Amino acid sequence: MNLTISNVSKTYPNGVRALQGISLTVPAGLYGLLGPNGAGKSTLMRILATLQEPDEGSIQLAGLDVLGQKEKVRETLGYLPQEFGVYPKAKAEDLLDYFAVLKGITQRAARREVVEALLRQTNLWDVRRQQLGGFSGGMKQRFGVAVALLGNPKLLIVDEPTAGLDPAERVRFLNLLSELGENSVVILSTHIVEDVAELCTNMAIINQGQILLEAEPLRAIERI
Ligand code: ADP
Ligand code: ADP
Repeated sequence: MNLTISNVSKTYPNGVRALQGISLTVPAGLYGLLGPNGAGKSTLMRILATLQEPDEGSIQLAGLDVLGQKEKVRETLGYLPQEFGVYPKAKAEDLLDYFAVLKGITQRAARREVVEALLRQTNLWDVRRQQLGGFSGGMKQRFGVAVALLGNPKLLIVDEPTAGLDPAERVRFLNLLSELGENSVVILSTHIVEDVAELCTNMAIINQGQILLEAEPLRAIERI
């Protein structure tokens, strides 16, 4: 199961050429998309998440045409945007349960099971009855992952998730993504080299809307 991106381009109405013929093959595992601010990472992440249309190109996920079969792809997609906001007064367990209902998990017993499993997986079980407003940055990001994992996505897209995390939280968060990469495609966009070097199984470097290099992290570092 993998994700294939072919010749994807996007120019914004103001003339900024955010993506210029991006082609990538992303295998199962944790995949790092590394690039500086303005490189086009968020644009590509939003296109993969079917939230934005490219001007041209095609994207395949496990036999599905991502641009042509949006509804179907959304059923199997998890997306943690760069700015994930949640209602601060809500308790983690209640809000996750609420999102589970929205995701179509209507049966109460099934929902309780899914919510518990996700809270445990993201290490939030002990704080499940606390309000999100009191969570640290890392806890909020892990909650975002729990929400993104509802419905068991084949593809998880995480846009610049480690910005603002302290070192311990960052490592914990990357370990979580790395575990998730054992069963699905997880794409992590970041401008932090260490995020990619430590745990990603494959990576690409993007700059000014173009892929500069596609490799396994160790090989890439040898070539720099
Ligand atoms: P990154 O996530 O790597 O920082 P972005 O995809 O956000 O890169 O941005 C790529 C380029 O496109 C930047 O020059 C940015 O200013 C521009 N851009 C992003 N979103 C828009 C938009 N909605 N309208 C116009 N330009 C945009
Ligand atoms: P990033 O870190 O991904 O580059 P930005 O702070 O550049 O994020 O962008 C935040 C939001 O503003 C995004 O929704 C992006 O599409 C939009 N945006 C970025 N650059 C521009 C721009 N030049 N014109 C209009 N919208 C923009």
